[in-house]
Amino acid sequence: MRYTIEKVTTLIGARRYGDTDADVSFVLTDSRSLCFPEETLFFALKSERNDGHNFIPELYRRGVRNFVVSSVPKGWASDYPGVNFLKVVNTLEALQRLAERHRDEFNIPVVGITGSNGKTMVKEWLYQLLSPTLFVTRSPRSYNSQIGVPLSVWLMDTNTQVGVFEAGISQPGEMLALRDIIQPSIAVLTNLGAAHDENFDGREDKCREKLILFHDAKTIVYNLDDTIVAKVVETSADCSGERLAWSATDPTAAMYIQSVVKEGDHTIVTYIYKGGEPEKYTIPFIDDASVENSVICAAVALRLGVPAATVCERMATLEPVAMRLEVKEGNNGCTLINDSYNSDINSLDIALDFMNRRPDHKGRRRTLILSDIFQSGMEPQELYKEVSDLARKRGVVKFIGIGPALTTNAGSIQISEKYFFSTVQQFISSNVFHSLSDEVILLKGARQFGFDRITELLVRKVHETILEVNLNAIVKNLNWYRSFMKPETKLVCMIKADAYGAGSVEIAKTLQDHRVDYLAVAVADEGATLRRNGITSNIMVMNPEMTAFKTMFDYDLEPEVYNFRILDALIKAAEKEGITGYPVHIKLDTGMHRLGFDPIADIDKLVDRLHRQNAIIPRSVFSHFVGADSDNFDDFSARQFALFDEGSRRLQAAFEHKILRHMDNSAGIEHFPERQMDMCRLGLGLYGVNPRDNSIINNVSSLKTTILQLREVTPPDTIGYSRRGTIGKPSVIAAIPIGYADGLDRHLGNRHCYCLVNGQKAEYVGNICMDVAMIDVTGIDCHEGDSVEIFGDNLPVTVLSDVLDTIPYEVLTGISNRVKRIYFQD
Ligand SMILES: *Cc1c(COP(=O)(O)O)cnc(C)c1O
Repeated sequence: MRYTIEKVTTLIGARRYGDTDADVSFVLTDSRSLCFPEETLFFALKSERNDGHNFIPELYRRGVRNFVVSSVPKGWASDYPGVNFLKVVNTLEALQRLAERHRDEFNIPVVGITGSNGKTMVKEWLYQLLSPTLFVTRSPRSYNSQIGVPLSVWLMDTNTQVGVFEAGISQPGEMLALRDIIQPSIAVLTNLGAAHDENFDGREDKCREKLILFHDAKTIVYNLDDTIVAKVVETSADCSGERLAWSATDPTAAMYIQSVVKEGDHTIVTYIYKGGEPEKYTIPFIDDASVENSVICAAVALRLGVPAATVCERMATLEPVAMRLEVKEGNNGCTLINDSYNSDINSLDIALDFMNRRPDHKGRRRTLILSDIFQSGMEPQELYKEVSDLARKRGVVKFIGIGPALTTNAGSIQISEKYFFSTVQQFISSNVFHSLSDEVILLKGARQFGFDRITELLVRKVHETILEVNLNAIVKNLNWYRSFMKPETKLVCMIKADAYGAGSVEIAKTLQDHRVDYLAVAVADEGATLRRNGITSNIMVMNPEMTAFKTMFDYDLEPEVYNFRILDALIKAAEKEGITGYPVHIKLDTGMHRLGFDPIADIDKLVDRLHRQNAIIPRSVFSHFVGADSDNFDDFSARQFALFDEGSRRLQAAFEHKILRHMDNSAGIEHFPERQMDMCRLGLGLYGVNPRDNSIINNVSSLKTTILQLREVTPPDTIGYSRRGTIGKPSVIAAIPIGYADGLDRHLGNRHCYCLVNGQKAEYVGNICMDVAMIDVTGIDCHEGDSVEIFGDNLPVTVLSDVLDTIPYEVLTGISNRVKRIYFQD
């Protein structure tokens, strides 16, 4: 919906600077996602680490004219002609306020969903149950935070007949704002689990906070069988609405579950709604979470007037909720971004934004393969015109549309290279499919079109063992470490050794997107690879080889300099190329005794040498702690720091420009935040392992494989080479396609360690082979083709490194290149 800028000013109670007429229909909080500058209202939000005000000049240059700010830039009238600055005290509150006023415009049912788990599944399933007949506006993905909720509610427009929004909280005090924005007429508490317990005084307290959402709701939906929930609802002043509780034990509950029967791959649920006749539905899932979520959805759908017969019909075809955007290497130099999330215009925009933000080396085109979009509530012509606009703004140059509606509306797609097919089959047998090469392809299709066929054919077939890398976890870890740092302290992210095994290119893209100041690689070639893949951040090379200076100059890579030999060679090489002022990083040895200048004895000579040339210039000076991970070395660390402090100050004193000083690694950031100086260097912690105590912060990498073959073996038979795998009783043995050549250390064999099969421990039996290992799955319910976790979310990598008497660094960096890396983000 469009609002005039006057109206917005009044709604959020702002003071307006500027008098240009304008209409806005998009709100933006993240400058990287800008799409329609002329119609965008940017909220300059302040967080601990970021200040949206810093992006005003850039956004203005890109065409944005309307800003909500807490301070108006000096000289705004002359620097920003045609602008409107709306000044408020708190920009986040203004965003929430605007969403709240927007919500006031609608007198329609709105479902608000909170709870520890299942919010997104309930929201998506409700959408599946309601949207064939009602136009539903819902939160995109899991936009459920203090910022995500207002952005979601803002999406309601004149077409909307029902709103379905998630509300997620992690701390006391957060629900009130969300409730005012959502103003649910039906409020749902899915369940109460352990998430964020640490921030509350116990479960009841957390429950009470969540139930603030229920205040004013006409109908409240919750689990009567959960004693804590039932008790809090009974006593809370927020729960005066009609009680639509579900229960499997209390026949007086409004949604009484009479029976749940699991048969093969589906479940039959029999229920009595508000004392009526027993009704049934079947869902194509058997896990308990799905069953419970389906009950919640049924109750809400019935409450919204959907007939029981329709609920039953639609339940039978519920689709699983895929939350991931996956990046995979394809054939012929293509990269595939697979978004199996529902096909609608909001999630399309998020996926396009994701593709557009990942830099790519020159020449690779961006291609969108899209199926017909259903239930958008818009006229097809208008819908596909909007799709076309979005795609173009997000850099798509080739469009492949699949489905009858897109084919009919081909004229609405204004992208010069475009192709249309009625079915996936036609596309796959066409030349367009066979000539895909060197492009970045976003695949987004409604499930019934069967886009899996396309992915299957396009993804390079490899070994079934994969390393899954969670890009959200990388960001969470980054922010966790940043929380120890002052906002102005710079950060180097270490992506040496192929990003500690996670794969440096994709990790670098994510880090660049989050604006880290420096990336650090081990050797020049790693840096060159990053540049060829579109990375433009500053890159430091920790072990520059004398033979690679030219590569460094060509690719703008900044070497570490640790002794006079390399210093002289570098100066000479730079002078030969006619280079001046090339940035380098000076390393001092304060106790590691690995590489580095002596912080006392070498400084005068170093300064002298640097002064007598202008080819290179010290950008930073640094040293490395030997034992920041252990309190036992605190005295030694203090001595190291004192030495560094003296040496680096002397170096700085000899130059007028600022030389960045840095010493903290991951352990140091946490343990010695007072020693962060100008910059920190984050390594292992970024990849999820806290070097201080070997705990997992947010797990990033999961090494997974699948069962190739199962067999029964009876003693005295043995398993594997040299008959080392003995068994005491008849056993079931699974062979998995991972061996020491993949980085699965041989010392884990012979029952020294285990992996997880369907959540249960399975020991390695016998010697681990080069490409295969055998595991004991006796008593575990499993089949050929089942997934096996070597380490990951459920089995910390530190379990393996402890068994191997080594550090997690070695296990992570030891995973060989032939193991395919798959990246995803929630
Ligand atoms: C690898 C490395 C780091 C990062 O160390 P972590 O323990 O992984 O945080 C920092 N500084 C230098 C010089 C390094 O070589």
